[in-house]
Amino acid sequence: MASELSLLAVHPHPDDESIGMGGTLARYSAEGVRTTLVTATRGEVGEILDKDLDPKEAAPRLASIREAELRNAVKILGVTELDFLGYEDSGMAGLPRNREPATFWQADEEEAIGRLIRVVRRVRPQVMVTQNEFGGYAHPDHIKTHRVAIGAFFYAGDVERFPGGEPFRPSKLYYTAFPKSQLKKIAEAMERAGVENRFSSDGEPPPFAVSDDRVTTWLDVSPYLEKKLAAMRAHRTQIPEDSWFIKLSEVLGPQAWRLETFERVRSSVDAPVPEDDLFAGLR
Ligand SMILES: [Zn+2]
Repeated sequence: MASELSLLAVHPHPDDESIGMGGTLARYSAEGVRTTLVTATRGEVGEILDKDLDPKEAAPRLASIREAELRNAVKILGVTELDFLGYEDSGMAGLPRNREPATFWQADEEEAIGRLIRVVRRVRPQVMVTQNEFGGYAHPDHIKTHRVAIGAFFYAGDVERFPGGEPFRPSKLYYTAFPKSQLKKIAEAMERAGVENRFSSDGEPPPFAVSDDRVTTWLDVSPYLEKKLAAMRAHRTQIPEDSWFIKLSEVLGPQAWRLETFERVRSSVDAPVPEDDLFAGLR
C-alpha cells in the first residue's frame, strides 16, 4: 500500500465517539491505522450526572471537565490524535441557547468546513465517519456536524473554493448507524431481564434508529469491548455507573455492545455490501 491508512471521525460532543464507535476506533488504532477524532464542541451545556460533582459548582467549568474526560477516553481507545473545531455546545433543540453566536449551530458553515478541511488535508483520511442527516436524534450540534463533515468530504480536494494546503479527497464516507433490529433485540432482552429500558420493544423505535437496509457495515468489536466500555465510563459526567448504557452491558453481557454498525454513503473504490471493514477495497 502506497500510503498509510488513516481514519477520521467527526463528532459533535465528547462521548459521541465512544458510544457510537469506540470499539471501531480501538480496533483500527490497534491495527496501526492512523486515527483522528475531531470533536466540534466541548459539550459545555451537557448534563452533570457524576455523583462526585456538585452540579452547581461544576457547571461553569464543564467544558474543561468534559475535555479532560474526552482526552482520557481517546487515550484508552488508542486514538492517534484529538482535535477540536472550537465551537460551543448549542444545547438541545428549541432552547434559547441555540441562538447564541458562539454556538456551533450559529457558526458560519463555510468557516467551519474550512476548519475541518485543514485537518483532512493534514491527516489525509481514506475513510471519514460522521453523523447522519438527522444527526442521530436531531440535536442541533449533531445536524451541524453532519453538514460540516459532508462539506469537508467533498471540498477538501478543491483548493479554489478552500485555499491552503495540499488538496485531498477521502475515498469513503460513513455515518454511524443504530439499526432498528438491534435496538429491538436489546429492548426485548432488557424486558426479559426485568430491567427498565429506554425504549419499549413494542413501541416506537427510538429517534436515532435507522432502517436495517441502510446499514452496510457490521463490525464485530468483541476484542475491544473492554476498551469501549472503559472509554464510555471515562465520560463520568455523561455516563455514570447507574446509567442505562452501563446497565445494558451488565444485563446483556458483551452482546449489548458487540456490534458497531455504519451506513456507507459514498465510496470511490469497489467494496462489498455488507462489509466488515471500513477499509474494504482500500487494502
Ligand atoms: Zn452528542
